[in-house]
Amino acid sequence: GVPLERIAAEVGTPAYVYSAATLRRHAQVVQQALSGLDNPLIAFAVKANPNVAVLRILARQGLGADVVSAGEMQRALAAGVPADRIVFSGVGKTDAELAAALDAGILQLNVESESELFRLSRIADSRQTVATIAIRVNPDVDAHTLAKISTGKAENKFGIPLDRVEALYATAATLPGIRPAGIAAHIGSQLLDLAPLETAYGKLGALMARLRAGGQVVERVDLGGGLGISYDPALPAPPTPAAYGAMVQRVTAGWGVRLMFEPGRLIAGNAGVLVARVITVKTGLKRTFVVLDA
Ligand SMILES: *Cc1c(COP(=O)(O)O)cnc(C)c1O
Repeated sequence: GVPLERIAAEVGTPAYVYSAATLRRHAQVVQQALSGLDNPLIAFAVKANPNVAVLRILARQGLGADVVSAGEMQRALAAGVPADRIVFSGVGKTDAELAAALDAGILQLNVESESELFRLSRIADSRQTVATIAIRVNPDVDAHTLAKISTGKAENKFGIPLDRVEALYATAATLPGIRPAGIAAHIGSQLLDLAPLETAYGKLGALMARLRAGGQVVERVDLGGGLGISYDPALPAPPTPAAYGAMVQRVTAGWGVRLMFEPGRLIAGNAGVLVARVITVKTGLKRTFVVLDA
């Protein structure tokens, strides 16, 4: 509700300006879309906007945080996200970051490799604590998005190959300092079609059933983020959060788990603008250039 001209006059340019009302509305739309589920955790993917003021608005709205570094975790905690709503993902967690996550008492670490599992076990055990983990699965699904933001194909660095998860989960259950609570996946970003998500979730459901049949406890499934947003009104609109929520409810009916979600772009992407001032307009031979202070 504040005119951009007034903000520019007060704080100068260039400036990123985020709308608190829009952030809250986006969070509410996602909460509403998932309201048919039993106590879902909606953890904002902090990399989508790690500004502490933005995180504070989302924390007050009841969102958790999905973090991929100790720095992001500190920001989430500083913004008032309770530790029991924080999930730590990422392929490159250092020993210091694993220790910091344990000391903060966060809800869950999403383990992305065998070596990470063993390091975490050693660190948790030496601290006489227990790490609650999910195994991040690489479901080998093509998300039909840009290669650099595709994370769920066999050639991507993220997660454990689907056919190795059962053995690793069983190992995890025997390790000191480790409590396997579930499985996780995140197949990519800016997804404009629900089909790859549905395929991935189907694979997670089948894996969950196999794990249980093998005597393992699976009480959480983290479905990641990835729902695309509109960048160009001339292009077809992405699936709505409501359509996504209906698909999730259909595919996960009867799973008997706490579902977790990690939306990023969907919450923050269209909630802000970059306000710049025109320094000069420069006429070239072939084009006219608008030169900005941004
Ligand atoms: C980037 C990322 C997300 C969020 O992706 P969006 O497309 O912004 O929703 C969620 N989880 C993990 C593990 C990520 O790396």
